[in-house]
Amino acid sequence: MGLFARDVQVCVVSSGSSGNCTYIGDGHAGVLIDCGLATKQVMTRLAEVGLGDAPIDAVLVTHEHSDHVGAAGVLSRALAKRGKPVPFLMTAGTAGALQPRCVPDGIELVEAGDTVEVRHLRAECFPVPHDTRDPVGWRVHIGNVTIGVVTDLGRPTRLVVDKLSGCDLAVLEFNHDEDLLLEGPYPYWLKQRIKSNHGHLSNRQAAELLTDALSPRLRTLILGHLSEENNRPEHALAAAGAVLRAAGAHEHVAVHVAEQHRARGPFQVRTDHW
Ligand SMILES: [Zn+2]
Ligand SMILES: [Zn+2]
Repeated sequence: MGLFARDVQVCVVSSGSSGNCTYIGDGHAGVLIDCGLATKQVMTRLAEVGLGDAPIDAVLVTHEHSDHVGAAGVLSRALAKRGKPVPFLMTAGTAGALQPRCVPDGIELVEAGDTVEVRHLRAECFPVPHDTRDPVGWRVHIGNVTIGVVTDLGRPTRLVVDKLSGCDLAVLEFNHDEDLLLEGPYPYWLKQRIKSNHGHLSNRQAAELLTDALSPRLRTLILGHLSEENNRPEHALAAAGAVLRAAGAHEHVAVHVAEQHRARGPFQVRTDHW
């Protein structure tokens, strides 16, 4: 048991195509992954789940879509006012593609594959296939706990399987039900974009990814970035549940569905369970 053996807290502040934000911290240091909803909402929702004073030492950005980075400009100034300027970590591709109003003060560039120290946390980014310049997923290591956030990818890759399999808690995209998408109201081009190799994971694809990545480390699985039009929580839960039951893991893994309009969590992960 190390110096930092204590509970890690994870809160999915918001998840879905109208805004994404996840908090990961241990009471002494913490990060946000993405900031795609209004800064006031981020702060209000964190306060509502008891994380109003939780430390935010960096914001880790996945890609330039506004549902992930829309608040970066306002948030960077709000955090600076709260005490100290906070770095926004992102790839050069993402930084170069930000809309002017989303540009935060204090961008720190990373390359996909980098691991960066944020206080005693280690933040690791890795490439994912998505229709933006240089998108990444993130893992955060605190002590011997690893938390992963993997959303906005068009297909599972070996690398993503590998990264997911090392997580104690993972937020994984279950974007759409393939039948609901096909029959739904979206125009043809948008359906094709979502289905493409650089769009979003369907429930079926996410279940395949989970099958390949499932390891005894995984204790908490949060289904994320559900489409409000083209998915239902029960469909996503059924897809994930089938994988866990087939592997005999359903009693060991807690499954939750992240929401667009309210925070879920904080979920606790023990740092000393190995
Ligand atoms: Zn998104
Ligand atoms: Zn996206």
